[in-house]
Amino acid sequence: MHEYSIARELIDTLTEQVDEDKLSRTKKVHLELGELRVISREALSQAFKIVTEDTILNGAELDFEEVSLLAKCRKCGFEGEVNYDDDLSLHFSVPVLSCPDCGSPVDILSGNELSVESLTIEDSDSDD
Ligand SMILES: [Zn+2]
Repeated sequence: MHEYSIARELIDTLTEQVDEDKLSRTKKVHLELGELRVISREALSQAFKIVTEDTILNGAELDFEEVSLLAKCRKCGFEGEVNYDDDLSLHFSVPVLSCPDCGSPVDILSGNELSVESLTIEDSDSDD
């Protein structure tokens, strides 16, 4: 399943970048999740829970921060939220988007995120 490979990637990233000591005390992993990402939060949370069971991250939960889709028009300079067809996004990893003002192609500024924003780590005696 898609969500399982994402969960494994997240764990790989975390174990590469964060001290084991911190990981073992991690309660929550806060993720930035772009609106364009076609991911089920429930499925990803479930996958994360299962994949972390035998790891140092056992017990940590995912927390999602949604990042709105923002785009900039290449032609008229419009910058802001752009609506897209939900059906389309199921078929294309990056849906075709167009400017609400002039219909020209837009560049995506945000909405494609899937990254670890921060961690909530259980208190211990040593602060840092
Ligand atoms: Zn435009």
